[in-house]
Amino acid sequence: MAQLIDGKAIAARIRAEVQADVERLKASRGLVPGLAVVRVGEDPASKIYVTGKKKAAEEVGFHSWEHALGADITQDELLARVRQLNADPAVHGILVQLPLPKHIDAERIIAAVSPEKDVDGFHPVNAGRLSLGQPGLRPCTPFGAMRLLAEVSCAPAGKRAVVVGRSNIVGKPMALMLLQADATVTICHRKSDLPREVAQADILVVAVGVPELIQGEWIKPGAVVIDVGMNRKADGKLVGDVAFQAAAQRASAITPVPGGVGPMTIAMLMRNTFIAASGGV
Ligand code: NAD
Repeated sequence: MAQLIDGKAIAARIRAEVQADVERLKASRGLVPGLAVVRVGEDPASKIYVTGKKKAAEEVGFHSWEHALGADITQDELLARVRQLNADPAVHGILVQLPLPKHIDAERIIAAVSPEKDVDGFHPVNAGRLSLGQPGLRPCTPFGAMRLLAEVSCAPAGKRAVVVGRSNIVGKPMALMLLQADATVTICHRKSDLPREVAQADILVVAVGVPELIQGEWIKPGAVVIDVGMNRKADGKLVGDVAFQAAAQRASAITPVPGGVGPMTIAMLMRNTFIAASGGV
């Protein structure tokens, strides 16, 4: 039976580390990191996410502000708000909660955030820095997944890593981070032969959004499995993209859903905001 990778406990430890770093920063430079979260409209899931981020920010000792804007805000008004936050020296991190209403071009809004304050790591400059192997703010979810690998002493160097899913926020940056860590990386998508590719993986990261797509029998014995998926089934149960029970029979370590990657995302957002505030990218 695989070792369970306890993302909840690891995330709590990271938040405690950030809190200690904030205290040191306050003492040494009189600086308090500030995180501004912008939310547009009344999407209930976005409200829950933003509340969680704000609470975590307060717990680690940041200043935090929620900018709750009406669904009818124009693109220009939203751009103006982002520019105002870019110019505010008390704000070190800016996060625009996605999705945005349809009449707003999300790519333009993301590109308007100063790359130095882009704590989501979605700005084209930060994506470019990652692909060039340069320091920069990294997307929180794959950044957290890398930390989970480190926590189970899984060094990617020389290993075969397979990433299923190629989204700009998870799959692609995940593959680049693994490559940067000297893994041999394969990226899979809808046209890939999943059973064949998955069978090669010493490290398997799945970010697809299809409940239990990856069957346990495909997994290489001893693989480390990171399941990013979060899918709500008809009975209300939350499941990942990997058939957990069967996968746990073959893997050496595996993340549960919930309680694996999920809690890491907010923890790494706190880490990113600290990095942005302390100028330590
Ligand atoms: P997305 O929809 O943007 O991307 C999904 C990717 O999976 C696409 O690249 C697509 O090509 C690929 N894909 C879809 N169906 C496939 C199939 N049948 N076979 C192979 N590839 C397939 O999704 P995303 O934003 O990357 O999120 C993926 C999952 O991760 C979702 O369940 C999401 O809820 C979850 N997620 C969790 C966190 C977290 O904090 N834990 C953060 C982000 C996303």
